[in-house]
Amino acid sequence: MKHALVGSVLFVFFLTAPGVAQLEITGTVSANATPGALPDGVGNAAVVVPLSGVRVQVVGGPQAVTAADGTYVLTVPDAMPRTIEVELVGPFAQVLTAQGAAVRGAQVVMAPATADFLLNAAPDEYSTAQVNVFCHVTMAHDFFRSRAPLFGGLDFPVVSTANIALSCGATFNSGDLSLGFFHAASGCVNTGYSSVVLHEYGHVIVNRFGLAQGAFGEGYADALSLLALDDPVVGRDFLGPGISIRQPGIDAVQYPCAGSVFFCGQVLAGAWYRISENLQTSLGDAAGLEHARQLFVDWSQITLGGQGSDAAHPDTVIEVLTVDDDDGDLSNGTPHFTEICAAFAAHGIPCPEPPGLLLTHDPLVRGLESELVVTGAVPGTLVAIVAGTRGVGAGRCYPQLGGLCLGFLGNPRLVGSGTADANGELRLTLRVPASAPLIEVVLQAANRVGPGGADSMVSEVVVSTVGE
Ligand SMILES: [Zn+2]
Repeated sequence: MKHALVGSVLFVFFLTAPGVAQLEITGTVSANATPGALPDGVGNAAVVVPLSGVRVQVVGGPQAVTAADGTYVLTVPDAMPRTIEVELVGPFAQVLTAQGAAVRGAQVVMAPATADFLLNAAPDEYSTAQVNVFCHVTMAHDFFRSRAPLFGGLDFPVVSTANIALSCGATFNSGDLSLGFFHAASGCVNTGYSSVVLHEYGHVIVNRFGLAQGAFGEGYADALSLLALDDPVVGRDFLGPGISIRQPGIDAVQYPCAGSVFFCGQVLAGAWYRISENLQTSLGDAAGLEHARQLFVDWSQITLGGQGSDAAHPDTVIEVLTVDDDDGDLSNGTPHFTEICAAFAAHGIPCPEPPGLLLTHDPLVRGLESELVVTGAVPGTLVAIVAGTRGVGAGRCYPQLGGLCLGFLGNPRLVGSGTADANGELRLTLRVPASAPLIEVVLQAANRVGPGGADSMVSEVVVSTVGE
């Protein structure tokens, strides 16, 4: 053992000994791309952005991939002149062009050196479209993958062709998972831009989960775009200024749906946009948007897809509530039950009944503490837990609870009370006296809500026997 240890130390020493120089070539790759959600053109000129996820290669030598800020580091053994090349190729995207020159860059440097690239320094329709497609395919991949750390099904370069000589469309090829984008013609813009690229990539994700496309595929693809851009519209100004393809987050297409797959997809996309809007209202813009994006990615991994022309349907609500749930029990609600259900309701999809007031507790044992939990209360309102020992039956009624009656006989004894937290929950700890009689106890929770208690709720009664 000792000899082996000495040997390995020497080995490390020689590997790092002076004489084996490691020189760095560093730099940033940037390109002109279309900003925001509008297409390329008058009033929305391309701007220089860092290019992430692009491969930088020493011809005949090592390669690196740019980081989110467009930077890269290459290491070479000596100061010989070397050619450094960049093309629109990376681990998750590859862009070809049907027209115009392929966007690329090359320069010769001697390490140590800085080699910055500005790829399409004089942008035109064809070069900007190629860069846009590369940026947004990479963005779509990262959107999903960064929130699904265990899902490797998207880790391959999706090949896209920009500037195809057709008009007013874009394509997804289910055979090889390639994408296609058309040049500007027939009154339509070049379709290689933000929301259209994100939409087409959405079909790749649906395919990777083995789900049928149809209305679900169109809705899923739109939803990915709406959430990634935080924009209710798909294909802004596609047919010229002010004429967009669809606005699923503004129109409220209703379930059940009849119509084209593109029309009916909007039920799903609109519901997701509204989930995001509602969460942004309750959690704040940044936190709400991020929560919606994570829910969407979580749901993507469990959904069974659409049902015919219904991209979303009552089972979709259950799926979304399932990924929102934090205790494996939908019957007591989920942390964002209200926001999710309101979003689906806006599209005519019903939610399960709201859970209402629910009381649960640990067994009651002489001399021990028991935790009592009330859920489903209105946040910030008064909750009381009362008990009786004379059995279940029509009990006393209270004007301050809007006339509601208790479900047990005799005079109620107050076990405890408090204010429901932001999740509508109250937890109380009760110590059962060591001398408590071993009898049956009926427990019930009441929640005082509304002016004069007019909207109050009581839970079902819970019957327990004190044990020892
Ligand atoms: Zn589509």
